Amino acid sequence: MTERLYYTDSYLREFHARVLDRTPDGAMLYLDRTAFYPTSGGQPHDTGSIAGAAVVDVVDEGERIAHRVESPVDTAEVDCRIDWTRRLDHMQQHTGQHLLSAVFIEQFGIETISFHLGQEISTLDLETPAVDMAKVVAAERRANEAVAENRPILVTYEDAGAAGDLRKPSDRGGTLRIVSIDGLDRIACGGTHVRLTGEIGPILTRRLEKIRNCTRVEFLCGGRAVRRARADYDALSRIAQAFSTSLDETPQVAAAQIDAARESDRTQRKLESELARYQGRELYEGAAPGANGLRSVSRRLPKGTMEDLRALAQSFTAQPKAVFVGAVERPASVMLATSADSGIEAGKILQPLLLQAGGRGGGSARLAQGSVPSDTLDQVVRALLNL
Ligand SMILES: [Zn+2]
Repeated sequence: MTERLYYTDSYLREFHARVLDRTPDGAMLYLDRTAFYPTSGGQPHDTGSIAGAAVVDVVDEGERIAHRVESPVDTAEVDCRIDWTRRLDHMQQHTGQHLLSAVFIEQFGIETISFHLGQEISTLDLETPAVDMAKVVAAERRANEAVAENRPILVTYEDAGAAGDLRKPSDRGGTLRIVSIDGLDRIACGGTHVRLTGEIGPILTRRLEKIRNCTRVEFLCGGRAVRRARADYDALSRIAQAFSTSLDETPQVAAAQIDAARESDRTQRKLESELARYQGRELYEGAAPGANGLRSVSRRLPKGTMEDLRALAQSFTAQPKAVFVGAVERPASVMLATSADSGIEAGKILQPLLLQAGGRGGGSARLAQGSVPSDTLDQVVRALLNL
């Protein structure tokens, strides 16, 4: 059975131990005592070194803790070192989660059902979908107050039957390891925690996500919160610079620019349709009627969509006895538009031609369109022009 040194001292960074066992390939080591925290309770394992060999994974096997090392360790006694930067970061996120969960209960009676400590961002899942940003911001403010109050965080061992007033009932029997934030929270937990709320550092909540009947809240504590705030500031500064405005003015300026761009799009569409109307009339004037009395023209684009030809087609066929054939080469597609007095029902004519050519499509009596294999485009256009 491995003695878990992190239970009694989560600040222990270096320790001496005896190797009790190792797997035949030497990849896994078992020590008589360890300060390496194994992955559990939503908190990832520690890293560091055992007799100079890098520790890349720590697994809780129940009675024993297995340490996966990158290179073999032959000695019977070993000096071990925890990667403290990683551990302190984990302790900040983990203790910050205790505090946030306690505050969600205190302020709103909302329970936390799970916690995940991620590489960049951590999350906690609240038991209700009815959490909005205002509540999260209020919880964040209260949690940061508790950080400033620098409340002691204590670990005590209590009998499961007698341990009362826990935030969440424990399903374990025997002796419980209770972690308490003075005056705020008591919960059974086997993780590593800082000893004062001040050591959690700043607490920053971010995105909310509804997941089934829960709300997932992203949060960062300590150094992570500061790094994230720095990255946010840098990103916002670049946007503000692009808009030639101050940080605080950026949202209004961006919204105004988006409105202006939309207005400009509307104007452009209006002008394009007016231009198409003129072009359609001009095209009509220049087209001589055929033997059947119809004026037929075609327009072909190397690439684009039928939308690019629609206004011109409609304007042309707004004149009497008119037939308009449109084609786009990439992707290969065709259009047939006809005036009401042409005697040609566009959809009825085009659809069988498309099918015959291995394409598909259709439309109304006045305007129909569809796609065809590229090598049949010319053939379909010729057929339409010979109507
Ligand atoms: Zn904990």
